Amino acid sequence: MSRSNRFYIETWGCQMNELDSQRLAGQLMRQGMTPTRSVQEADIVLLNSCSVREKAEHKVFSRLGRYRLFKKANPDLIIGLCGCVAQQVGERALARVPDLDFVLGPARVGELGDVLARRHQGERVVAVGFPERADFDYDSISRDGTHKGMVTVIEGCNKNCTFCIVPQTRGPERCRPIAQILREVEQLVEQGFLEIELLGQTVNHWREPGGEQDFAHLLDRVASIPGVERLRFVTSYPRDFTPPMVKQFARHPNICPYLHLPVQSGSDRILRLMGRGYTHGEYRELVGQLRDARPDIALSTDIIVGFPGETDGDFFETLELVGDLRFSSVFAFKFSPRPGTAAPRLDSPVNEETGSRRLQELLALQESIQRELNESLVGTEMPVLVTGRGNEPGAQAGRTTCHRIVHFHAHNGDTPLGSITPVRIEKANPHSLLGSRLLSSISS
Ligand code: SF4
Repeated sequence: MSRSNRFYIETWGCQMNELDSQRLAGQLMRQGMTPTRSVQEADIVLLNSCSVREKAEHKVFSRLGRYRLFKKANPDLIIGLCGCVAQQVGERALARVPDLDFVLGPARVGELGDVLARRHQGERVVAVGFPERADFDYDSISRDGTHKGMVTVIEGCNKNCTFCIVPQTRGPERCRPIAQILREVEQLVEQGFLEIELLGQTVNHWREPGGEQDFAHLLDRVASIPGVERLRFVTSYPRDFTPPMVKQFARHPNICPYLHLPVQSGSDRILRLMGRGYTHGEYRELVGQLRDARPDIALSTDIIVGFPGETDGDFFETLELVGDLRFSSVFAFKFSPRPGTAAPRLDSPVNEETGSRRLQELLALQESIQRELNESLVGTEMPVLVTGRGNEPGAQAGRTTCHRIVHFHAHNGDTPLGSITPVRIEKANPHSLLGSRLLSSISS
């Protein structure tokens, strides 16, 4: 098998996968390979898959089928399946796709070099499972072309919500030592990143391995690093959010006034069936505390409609909660069963039609709330971190501290990617803001 020079990575799913793709790319670049935007030009193709959405396995196999066609033109092409579906299907993937060269689970991302070397010796490798010690080789993460520095602080999840496959695909919780995290953040600041995002499936459940310190302490330490202009973290678990964590929002203005806090349902009965461990009252109280600490905070959430056993009354409670709390965005999904999870075995499944109707109703309510919230920002000036091209010729796009997308015109040339620039908001849509870059500078 000849050596490979160019690689192509297709990434599905969450920020954890995005960062894993940066880790995969970094390892390949260290071996002298270069990224390409075209699958046809690639010598290595990696599919970094996600199993959160419906029919994930089916979609992965159909995508791998497409990649196999490129192998006809380039018999030396190496195809690797990575990510959560890799963990889920393991060995089976090699049997099902004869041209697949290796399978690499999310907890084994750091072993890509070794897996490729073994492949070059002729072995079809399956590297899945969860080693007790997770090595984070952050020196080899490729951050090219990205506007924020993502830093894993905790991997896996111990919660076992009845609808979720993550504990199976990403394994039990493993926390990184604080010294390692702080070093990586300092390094990113030195490289010029203005925004840092701490990542974990239940990021606020981070604990110093073998120590006492918790996520409130970690937030305090990271926010205190000179040069960290913006700090975000995702995803927070409501039950794990403590008053000292809330306090950090008031204490550090560089912690962005934005929090993704999945509620999943407004009904206590459904929350119990989901195994979430909090009531809607406790969730509302937490939101109140956060808004007291940081009145400008924007909150987003995840909601599942049509969970088994959900009645019209339960769904009404979800609508009520959404109407009351006025989230800046809602990621709403219709329940769909995941293999190996408990929820599909629950009584009284909700039929497709009812699930779809509820989803539409929820989305319509949220759209009207979002429109109002965004319209209230027209006329304000906001610091925007530039992330890419806008939706019109010549426009650029970026994010406010409250994580809203802004499309703006600069008038006198492009603003560098990754920099922060002041923008006057002139128009609002439910899902984005439109504006013009100001010449004077405002603080972030
Ligand atoms: S806490 Fe999040 S990642 Fe963990 S099982 Fe529940 S939904 Fe899944």
